[in-house]
Amino acid sequence: MVDSGFPVCKIQDGLVEKLAAAVAKDRVVWSPRLGEDGVGRLQVVERDFFARAMTTRLPIKKLLFPHGDALWSYHDGQYREVVEPSGLAITGLPLCDLQALWYLDRVFSEDTIYLQRRAGIFVVGMLCDAGVECRCDSALMPIAGDLFIGNDRVWALSDAGLALLQAAGGRVKQKKDLPWPESPAAKRRQVTAGQLPVHLNAGVWRAEGERCLSCGACSAVCPTCYCFDLVDVAGTDGSVNRKRVWDNCFFAEHGQVAGGFDFRADRAARLRFRMEHKRLGFGDLRGQDSCVGCGRCRTVCPVDIDLDRIAEQLVTEAPDAG
Ligand code: SF4
Ligand code: SF4
Repeated sequence: MVDSGFPVCKIQDGLVEKLAAAVAKDRVVWSPRLGEDGVGRLQVVERDFFARAMTTRLPIKKLLFPHGDALWSYHDGQYREVVEPSGLAITGLPLCDLQALWYLDRVFSEDTIYLQRRAGIFVVGMLCDAGVECRCDSALMPIAGDLFIGNDRVWALSDAGLALLQAAGGRVKQKKDLPWPESPAAKRRQVTAGQLPVHLNAGVWRAEGERCLSCGACSAVCPTCYCFDLVDVAGTDGSVNRKRVWDNCFFAEHGQVAGGFDFRADRAARLRFRMEHKRLGFGDLRGQDSCVGCGRCRTVCPVDIDLDRIAEQLVTEAPDAG
């Protein structure tokens, strides 16, 4: 079990209001809101900062490393690094997004643009109501953030969170575990990463790969998918802007290298690559299951492809010969 003990205090009269004022002081606040179309979106809010936690269609990566992020520019003989404005708060994040934030902090631990932006963001997690597609697991990985607001208590998750909580009058006396409700047994993932056999030639890759449209929607909404490309946009005046744009492992060019060879030329190979990346990890994070169970991919997939269902099939399916 991940150690989840954090300094905590009871919510007394006026504390939440004082916290709201402190969080919003000199910060633009983003929080989830449910649209008339039934889709949750992270958006700028001016009140009710702690209204509700929910998974939004696009997760916090849209603020941490937005699509088309400007990294540097060259204009009139001058090279300029992009200076990030600080002062952003994101409130109402559920467990899965706090875990995803912890994961992204590891992935981008040496990325100066990400670190610069991240340092200016104050994050408040909250208890959520599990949705029909949620398969979260508090033991999967630690969480990141600054404060966590429960039903009758507030936890400080970072030094900045503790300072803000105490400044708002919170009487912090002890450490206590966060109140994560474990996912109902029926919703829990049946196959853990340690049990996952990724048979290269399993029939499930072909069967599901044939159904996959390669639209990339699942990866675009995934809070722990972070592939990106770098593009230089040259102007007719001689200026150059370097941008970081989201890439997607379902796109045909993702595995292409010089000379035209494509490591993942067919959809089955791309689907298997995504499963390996999500559940088994790469590089320094090899072995870290990064699927936080948010359910976004299942919600958006137009042909109902479900990585957990594929994992169950892999366990039961004998590897093909050949
Ligand atoms: S793979 Fe799907 S369920 Fe898992 S974190 Fe990504 S979007 Fe969420
Ligand atoms: S959303 Fe579904 S159809 Fe689209 S790339 Fe992902 S698995 Fe394939």
